[in-house]
Amino acid sequence: MADPNNEAATSSSVTEQAPPAAPIHDLLEKIEDFLEPDKKRRKVSRNDGKTEQKLEHRLGGILCCAVCLDLPKAAIYQCTNGHLMCAGCFTHVLADARLRDEMATCPSCRIEISRTSPSRSLAVEKAVSELPAECQYCAKEFPRNSLERHEETMCEERICSCKYSRIGCPWRGPNHERPEHETHCVHPHRSGLDVMEALRDIDARTLEERRLYDNVFDLLSYEKITFNDLQMKPYRTDEFVHKLFYETSRFMAFNNHWVVKARINNSQRDPTQSSERDMTYQLILKTKTTYPVPLHYLILKGPFGDMKVQPRIHNFEFTDQENESPYLPLPLPDTAECNRLLAARAISFRLIMFLASK
Ligand SMILES: [Zn+2]
Ligand SMILES: [Zn+2]
Ligand SMILES: [Zn+2]
Ligand SMILES: [Zn+2]
Repeated sequence: MADPNNEAATSSSVTEQAPPAAPIHDLLEKIEDFLEPDKKRRKVSRNDGKTEQKLEHRLGGILCCAVCLDLPKAAIYQCTNGHLMCAGCFTHVLADARLRDEMATCPSCRIEISRTSPSRSLAVEKAVSELPAECQYCAKEFPRNSLERHEETMCEERICSCKYSRIGCPWRGPNHERPEHETHCVHPHRSGLDVMEALRDIDARTLEERRLYDNVFDLLSYEKITFNDLQMKPYRTDEFVHKLFYETSRFMAFNNHWVVKARINNSQRDPTQSSERDMTYQLILKTKTTYPVPLHYLILKGPFGDMKVQPRIHNFEFTDQENESPYLPLPLPDTAECNRLLAARAISFRLIMFLASK
């Protein structure tokens, strides 16, 4: 197993983006690249002198977070010596120190940092938001601050549904093909009886959604609620066929230590066999407990992440014998979103836990 504290990677690969449909072994190689810094360094030195890197790539290497080496999407903090950290890593460093009951220190220079005197770097935040990033659908580059708007409302390659999807048309495709499809779509000519089936599906989904909200409001009335903003990092096993998995570091909740693990395609032997990709996760109780811990929990994108996860509430009673929840799906909209997460160096999210009273 790789060293869980391995943060090493070279900054030159910061702007590397996996294309949405890259086979998983490409992604695994990319992940391997930053888990094995020596190999990467060799690669970089080979490229030196051959190609002059673009200014934005060089800037990306300078403005990235010193811990996860990603270009931060949210707030950026710095130690008094000026080392940059993304909000996710900053919170993570503080939480780690609290767990060990130590003063938090900058991972680069070891100077003390504290929650009460964080210094934000607005100039870096603004500079990062102007750096180019690639659209996941059309692969054209846009400034980071306008990429989301482009991907959601402007990109001609973005995946859309037919306007008759509400009456049962299953068509999905690139936006530029939509007008053509809609002109020939057969669904507007179907009978009311046919449409009823689609309406029943919609009703069922609405009902399920309402149950989710009711459930959330019930849980919000619990006496004991806690949340943690966490980061999952990729590791791989040393078996013959490499398996990729993700893990958070330990965190504290309800006087116990916990860890979240996640894996791709439920650790299917060879993920390249499938073009569909999904993630599952489990929650593990790491400390001994003399009494059962009945929990409800859910994962949200949180303040530092951008994972497009649909909220699902799970519950499990943790005991000394059963300290690991089953692997449950992390509901992502599609394979492209899963690939996007795989290409990032750390996945930030918020875990909310509700302790059921006996
Ligand atoms: Zn970071
Ligand atoms: Zn520092
Ligand atoms: Zn685009
Ligand atoms: Zn249609």
